[in-house]
Amino acid sequence: MTLQLAPPKSPDKIRVLCTKCRVPFREKIRNVREGTQVQCPNCNRLITFSTDSADLGVQRAFTEVRRIKNGLMLSIHRSSDDDGL
Ligand SMILES: [Zn+2]
Repeated sequence: MTLQLAPPKSPDKIRVLCTKCRVPFREKIRNVREGTQVQCPNCNRLITFSTDSADLGVQRAFTEVRRIKNGLMLSIHRSSDDDGL
């Protein structure tokens, strides 16, 4: 494991929308996973990340994380192609 080789452009945070106060905040990607809880910094609502959640903000956060992770995979596998563009 060589952690120093992490891609420099990869974001480590995503925007999570609090569905109670409608104010988005930034949360670390590693915290957005099944079973973790974060607190909205604006209204202090406890948000539980679960794929079963009916919370639209939670679902969007999962979608965003998935997209970023897929993008990272692609950029790692195609790093030589990216330089050509
Ligand atoms: Zn809130």
